[in-house]
Amino acid sequence: MDIAANLASIRQQIETTCQECGRNPAEVRLVAVAKTKPAELVEEALAAGQTLIGESYVQELVAKTDQIEARAEWHFLGHLQSNKVKYLAGRTSLIHSVDRLSLAKEINRVWGKIGQTANILIQVNLGQEASKSGATVNEVESLVRSIALLPNIRIRGLMTLPPFCPDPEEVRPYFRQLRELAEHLADCNLPGVIMDELSMGMSHDFTVAIEEGATLVRIGTAIFGERQPRPA
Ligand SMILES: *Cc1c(COP(=O)(O)O)cnc(C)c1O
Repeated sequence: MDIAANLASIRQQIETTCQECGRNPAEVRLVAVAKTKPAELVEEALAAGQTLIGESYVQELVAKTDQIEARAEWHFLGHLQSNKVKYLAGRTSLIHSVDRLSLAKEINRVWGKIGQTANILIQVNLGQEASKSGATVNEVESLVRSIALLPNIRIRGLMTLPPFCPDPEEVRPYFRQLRELAEHLADCNLPGVIMDELSMGMSHDFTVAIEEGATLVRIGTAIFGERQPRPA
């Protein structure tokens, strides 16, 4: 697995896609998703110039941020239980996966205790899949309005994990729907809501996500290789 070469290839694809659809490549940030991969591989990615790392399990994020000394920015992407929020404070600059008010309240409490404001995204379950986390389209606006009232939280945008489709073109409508939802919420002009980030697109569909407005693409397999099943 040549991580540096994989990163170079993805950066090139991001650049080309942006040029083709008239976007500034600086608007699209690459989150290298390292879940289940050892700290050594993350260090390899950092040595190759990657700065933004995504993790989906709290324990892994804590272990790797403890072990790795190189400078990095860490995002949390996975399903988050309220009782684990305290471990993320001071270690993550963006939580992509907030999907309920109770979780947001706990983030607000924990970040308030350290005198900081948490940046979060609202995860939306566009495919209405029972197996996936995320607020439904119908509840997003009221959720955003409630979370916006919490003083130590800043909503930066939306995230989605669409249904898996082998053909990325089939995912395009979901990406477009997320962008339209974000535009609608931005038009509401709520204090505490910025809506400048759209987290969408993974290894097999990130170019389509960029065409539809992604500002954060979350890529694991195409950088670090296939994952083993999730550790118990
Ligand atoms: C694992 C994961 C990814 C990366 O998926 P790949 O297909 O390996 O690129 C992206 N987003 C989330 C939320 C993930 O859990």
